[in-house]
Amino acid sequence: MRLILLGPPGAGKGTQANILSEKLKISTISTGAMLRNAIRENTELGRRAEKYLSDGQLVPDDLVVAIVKERLSRDDCKNGFILDGFPRTIVQAEALDASGVKVDKVLSIEVPDETIVERLSGRRECKSCGTPYHILYNPSKSGERCEKCGGELICREDDNVETIKKRLAVYHEQTEPIKGYYGKQGKVVSVHGREKLEDTVKEVFSALNIDTQ
Ligand code: ADP
Ligand code: ZN
Repeated sequence: MRLILLGPPGAGKGTQANILSEKLKISTISTGAMLRNAIRENTELGRRAEKYLSDGQLVPDDLVVAIVKERLSRDDCKNGFILDGFPRTIVQAEALDASGVKVDKVLSIEVPDETIVERLSGRRECKSCGTPYHILYNPSKSGERCEKCGGELICREDDNVETIKKRLAVYHEQTEPIKGYYGKQGKVVSVHGREKLEDTVKEVFSALNIDTQ
């Protein structure tokens, strides 16, 4: 399965990506996580991307397209992959098509704008492995620590009200149009991002015809 996850910031793409990754035994490629790692490690890419992330803007297409192409060429992507956070513009979607990578499905997770701000302010992320949590909707079983690696749970720097509003505007303007792009290819399936994680998971599995057993 070669899958793209689409949806506004805070729709729960990262959480669904992790669940689907385990179930389907394929890797998740999260451009947001890759960029945040690069910033943390202060690489050339990180230094170039930093100002865009902290301002809630998109990183230039050529930078992101290059890292995704490199990542997709690795062995673990041969039998499928989940793209979380890419493509985010028509230009990126066209670049992916032009590179010869075939996508099977685009899963659009729909969440109304009103819900986003509340969701994002409760979001936490493992500082070490990037696993996403939510203090109300998806708390860590290990309390204040990551249930996978014991890492510290932190708030993302761009999860503040002002930046969240910018990211939402950017989403509607630049990312949402790719629904139409993939719609023309007949690849889009939509689900509602529910309050309860299990409800969303059920809907996602059924939309993708995945056995829940
Ligand atoms: P969210 O979906 O919650 O906004 P992400 O982790 O996917 O979070 O992205 C965080 C930030 O990383 C974005 O606001 C943007 O600056 C940058 N980014 C991630 N993916 C892309 C992409 N495909 N193109 C451009 N910028 C990106
Ligand atoms: Zn962790």
